[in-house]
Parts: sequence; C-alpha cells; structure tokens
Amino acid sequence: MTDAFEYPQPKLFIAGHWRMGGGGDTLSVRNPATGQELAPLPVANTADLDEALTAVERTFPLWRATSAYDRAKILKKAAGLMRERAAYIGAVSTSEQGKPLAESTNEAMACADIFEWYAEEARRAYGRIVPSKHPGVRHMVFKEPVGPVAAFSPWNFPTTIPSRKMAAALAAGCPVIIKPAEETPGSCLELARCLDDAGLPKGVLNVVFGVPADISTYLIASPVIRKISFTGSTVVGKHLAGLAAQRMIPSTMELGGHAPVIVFDDADLDLAVRLSGGSKYRNAGQICIAPTRFYVHDSVHDAFVEKLAAYASSLKIGSGMEASTQMGPLANPRRLTAMDDLISDARQHGAGVAAGGKGPGGAGNFWQPTLLTDVPNSARIMSEEPFGPVAVTQRFSTFDEVVAQANRLPYGLAAYAYTRSARTAADIGDALEAGMIGINFSILTGPETPFGGVKESGHGSEGGIEGLEAYHVTKYVAQG
Ligand code: NAD
Repeated sequence: MTDAFEYPQPKLFIAGHWRMGGGGDTLSVRNPATGQELAPLPVANTADLDEALTAVERTFPLWRATSAYDRAKILKKAAGLMRERAAYIGAVSTSEQGKPLAESTNEAMACADIFEWYAEEARRAYGRIVPSKHPGVRHMVFKEPVGPVAAFSPWNFPTTIPSRKMAAALAAGCPVIIKPAEETPGSCLELARCLDDAGLPKGVLNVVFGVPADISTYLIASPVIRKISFTGSTVVGKHLAGLAAQRMIPSTMELGGHAPVIVFDDADLDLAVRLSGGSKYRNAGQICIAPTRFYVHDSVHDAFVEKLAAYASSLKIGSGMEASTQMGPLANPRRLTAMDDLISDARQHGAGVAAGGKGPGGAGNFWQPTLLTDVPNSARIMSEEPFGPVAVTQRFSTFDEVVAQANRLPYGLAAYAYTRSARTAADIGDALEAGMIGINFSILTGPETPFGGVKESGHGSEGGIEGLEAYHVTKYVAQG
C-alpha cells in the first residue's frame, strides 16, 4: 500500500458533486512528518455553502421519509466499503495526520463499527404510549429527526470523530454538512466516498472546507440548520454553542480535557504503566481523553515514575508510514510551540524531567515522549491541556486530598484510577467529576458506550443510545 500510495486530491463534496471551490481559492494540506505539501485544499465560498444548505434543505423530507430499515441498509453497505478500503483510508490519514499506519487503519475499521452500530440503533428509535387519564385518549410520543446538521470535526481522529457525527445524524434521518479539519481533509472525504458509493442519496451528505470561523458562522446562522455538533477546544466550543443559542438550536459539544490518573498505594503498577502509558503517548498525546495529570500515592510515586519513564523512553518515534514507528509527529507546528512553552514553564516552576523534554530537531513536528515529575499547581501545564506527549506527576497521601486535586479544574471529560480495592474503586468512581471514568482500564471509546464530558468539557454524548438521541426531537401527540 505505502509504496504505490498517492495522496488523493481533496475536493469539496456538495449536492453529490466532487469539485473544487467556486471561488478557486485553496489552502495547503501538509505531511506533518516532513512538512511537505501533499495537495492544495479547495475552499468553499458562500455560494458553495449556499449550495450545500440548499442540498440539505431539499433532501431532508426525502431522507426522513426513508425508513430506518432502508437508511440502515445504506449505512451498513458503506461500513462494508470502509472495511474493504481500510488500508487505503489509513494511508490517507497517516499522510495528513502523522499517526502510525496500523493505528490509522484500525481507526478506519472502527468507523465501520460506528456506522454499523448506528444503522442498527436507528431501527430501535422507539417512541412510547403513555396511559391516559382521559377515556379513549392516546398519548403517543415519537422520536423524529431534528433536521439538517452542521458538524465540525478536528484533526486528531480524522476518521472516527467525523464518523460519530455523520453516522448518528444520518441514521436518525438528518442530512449533514460537515467541515472536517483543514489539516486532515482526505480522511473524511474517503468516508464520504464510501457513503456515496453505497448509494446515499445525493445531497444528504456534504463536505466543505475553508476558514473554520467563517464557515461555522455562516452555516450556524442559516435557518436551514437545526443542530450543530463540534469537537475541539473549549474556547471554540463556547463560541459555537453561543452562536447556536442565539438561534435556539441544540448543540453537542465534545471539548477539551485534562484527565487525572490516580494511582493508589495498592495499585498494580505494571498494569497502570502499560495501560496509561499506552493511552498517554498514543497519537502523540493528541487525544482529548489522554491521561495527563498522574496523582501517585507517595509510597509508590518513585517506583511508578521509574516504570513510566522507561516505557516513554522506549518508544520509537518516526514517520507513521514506517512499520516500526510507535509514535508519529504532532499534527501541526502549533503543537510543538505549545509543548516547548508548557515544558519550559513547568521546569521554571521546579518540575523534574524523568523522560524526554524536547523535540529531536530536524524536519517534521516531532516531540519526545515526556514525563515531568513533582509539578506544582502553579505551572501552566497543571491547568492547560497539553494535547501532546507530556505526562506530569504529583504525589498524594489521602483520598480526600487527591479527589480535590483531580476535580480542581473546570474540565470534566475523562478520569482514571488504579487500585486493587473494590471499595476504593467504587468510592473513586463516585467522587470524580468526569463524563467517563476508567478504573483499572483505559479504553473509553466504543460505538455502544456514551462518550462525552461534564463541566467545561462540553455537553451531550456521542456513542451509546445517547448518541442517536442527540439527533432526535421528541414529539407528543394526544389523540382523542
Ligand atoms: P483549535 O481550537 O484552533 O481547533 C480545533 C478544531 O476546531 C480544528 O479542527 C479547527 O478547524 C476547529 N475550529 C477552530 N475554530 C473554529 C470555528 N470558529 N468554527 C468551527 N471550527 C473551528 O485548536 P488547535 O490548535 O487545532 O488544537 C489545539 C486544541 O484544540 C487542543 O489544545 C485541544 O484542546 C483542542 N482539540 C480538542 C480535540 C478533541 O478531541 N476534543 C481535538 C482537536 C483539538
């Protein structure tokens, strides 16, 4: 695959047509492992966006009237194509995003699972009949599609994050305009191609690119759009939720996190290192649920640091296209600047460096897997999401003290804990303020389970029955 692989020219996908932007403007897609341009990226102008809006408005009656059974057939066929094409889609993702090819290919396979699960779940969008106190009257509750959706997805999981949005919306009967990240356009376009080839009616799905703020402002202001879904930073999420609120349309917001990991004195340290080391440095740490703040009981802190530092230092960094690579580059040069700033600041505040700490230099956005120790709360990295391959430690002594630290930030996306005590596991599960909690376990994503945060990490869930519900409105009919 990699020898013969050629990065495909990204296009806009509007009203069923694959084409360049009407205004002729382009941005640039770059390979983060080399900094080289992969292709020009067409930009949608307002006429292009109007065409996409017309397409979703026109196709909504048709798509909502298509039975859930028939919608599911198309989505399942698309899922089959995603599996067949996973190696190719993976190569597209690795070229533009950087993560190792095996991870990108698995991610494309996971998209198939997501589409299949929503296809099935759409057939279970049950309403209910409520017993009436009025004789002969029936109270009926229906679940109906909310309407055309505008979705905005980031670059860190360039296929699964768009999939969660597109699969749930399409399964529920909602047409979609999606703006994937401009850094990683090809991945989502290949999914759109699977849906197009599977027979999705033209215009039900539209993919556009451009200056993110311009596109989102324009689409969200349109009366055609009835719901938005965004994954990205808290600051942008608050802005977009505000725009949606002005039109009183619902939003699903998957925003930033700063996940605490609590390692109790009775924890299996090898398990904690293997699971949380794996999920910390996977995708070069660019994961909203990545474990970051390691609160380690004083009695096991140094032993834990030694093991996690050894794990981090053993990882092989390189181009995601090389089979031996375990960690690829960061997705864009902005992340390198952020790593440098946060780590320098932590060192100035007295943090120790147990592993990594710098970029290797040369071409590409590479950064060493890094472990900082005994980092005080005054360091910026204890409050700002690093979104990169950096973990930090602090010591703790008591349960109450560590819960206060873990819940200290306005974020509440994911949290993790390691203990051999069932009592401690139950208590920490209750005490942590997070939308998702892993106890002696680190995998929190799956089509069947709700994925979402609390506090400033956002609202709403993607995945689980909640993920489909997010694209429904409830209609109550009383019939005498
Ligand atoms: P960013 O906030 O500029 O961009 C994040 C994503 O949002 C990008 O895909 C971007 O295209 C999009 N975006 C930005 N402004 C937008 C707007 N006005 N309308 C619509 N979309 C918009 O940040 P970045 O520098 O690309 O990434 C760094 C930060 O973003 C991280 O620190 C992290 O907090 C956050 N992030 C979170 C996730 C996640 O999975 N929750 C994913 C990627 C980035």
